[in-house]
Amino acid sequence: MTIAAETPDADTTATASEGKRVLLAAPRGYCAGVDRAVVTVEKALDLYGPPVYVRKEIVHNKHVVTTLEKRGAIFVDETQEVPEGATVIFSAHGVAPIVHDEAKALSLKTIDATCPLVTKVHREAKRFAGDDFDILLIGHEGHEEVVGTSGEAPEHITLVQSPDHVDEVVVRDPDKVVWLSQTTLSVDETMETVRRLRERFPKLQDPPSDDICYATQNRQLAVKQMAAQTDLMIVVGSRNSSNSVRLVEVALEHGARDGHLVDYADEIADEWLDGVTTVGVTSGASVPEVLVRDVLQFLAIRGFTDVETVTAAEESLLFALPNELRRDLKARGADQTEEIRHDAGSLH
Ligand code: SF4
Repeated sequence: MTIAAETPDADTTATASEGKRVLLAAPRGYCAGVDRAVVTVEKALDLYGPPVYVRKEIVHNKHVVTTLEKRGAIFVDETQEVPEGATVIFSAHGVAPIVHDEAKALSLKTIDATCPLVTKVHREAKRFAGDDFDILLIGHEGHEEVVGTSGEAPEHITLVQSPDHVDEVVVRDPDKVVWLSQTTLSVDETMETVRRLRERFPKLQDPPSDDICYATQNRQLAVKQMAAQTDLMIVVGSRNSSNSVRLVEVALEHGARDGHLVDYADEIADEWLDGVTTVGVTSGASVPEVLVRDVLQFLAIRGFTDVETVTAAEESLLFALPNELRRDLKARGADQTEEIRHDAGSLH
C-alpha cells in the first residue's frame, strides 16, 4: 500500500524517494486480552458512570491510560486507595488472591479483567503447588503479572529472571520441579533459560501448554521475519510494556541495524532516519492502531510512502467480557451481541 503524506511541510516532504520503504508487521497491536480489558473499562464507565476505579494500569500503555482517565477512570496502585463500596477493575495482568481478599474487606464491587491466558498460568501454579512441586517461574521481578502469579503459591514459587540466574536456583527435590513463565517474555531467551534449568534439573517438567501467549509469540515472529531487512525498527509501545520492550530486543538480535521504542510518532528523532532505506514498524500488544497510523504518517512525510505488510500469522481470537460486567449489562437490557463486541470503543 501507499501512504499519502497528509501534512507535508517544505523541509521534510519527499516524493516517494527511491528505495525508501516501510515493512509493517502483522500481527501487531492489540491482543485479545488487552482488547477485552480496555473495553471492560469503557463499558463500565458507560454503565456505572464515572468514576470507575482501576487497580494498576489496565494495560501498560500511556495513551490508553490517559484517554481512559479523561473519561473518568481513576487508576490506583493499591486496593486500599479505593473508597469503600466503590467499583474497582483489576487489570489485564492479574492479581494475587490477597487482592481479592482486600477488595472484599472494603466491600468493593470488583470486575476482574485479568487476561484469561494469565488466569491459565495462575491455575497451573495452583495445580502444581497442590501437587507439592517446586515451581520455577521465569519472569521479571516486580512485573505485575509475576507478582500476581507468585501470589497464588508463594511457598512453592521461585522466580528465575534470566539464563544468568539459573545457577542460583535452589529446589527441595530436583525430581519434582516444573517451570512456568510470564506471558510476555522473549521466546528465545526463555527457551535458553529452560535449557540451562534442564541441565541442572534433568527431570524438569514443562508447562501443560505454552505460557508465553499467542500474541507475544506472533508479534515476535513478525519482527524476526522483518528484522534482517530493516535499517531501523520502530516499535510503538510504552517503556513499562514488557512485550513491547521485548520486540525491540528481538529486532536487534535478529539483524535490525537500529531499533527504538516510542509511545508517539513525535518521539521519533529525524537523525534516526539518516541513511535509512527500510524502516520496520510494529507495535506492542497494548497499543491502539491509531498510534501506528501516526507513525506511518510521520514516515510518509519523510518519503517513506511505500508500505509493505509482512504477515507472520493470522489472529482472530476474542474473549468475552468479564462475567460480572456481562451480568450487569444483561440486567440493563444490553443486547447480547453488544456485550461481546470489542470494536466499539474509542481506543481502537
Ligand atoms: S499479551 Fe497475551 S497474556 Fe497479555 S493480555 Fe495479551 S493475550 Fe493476554
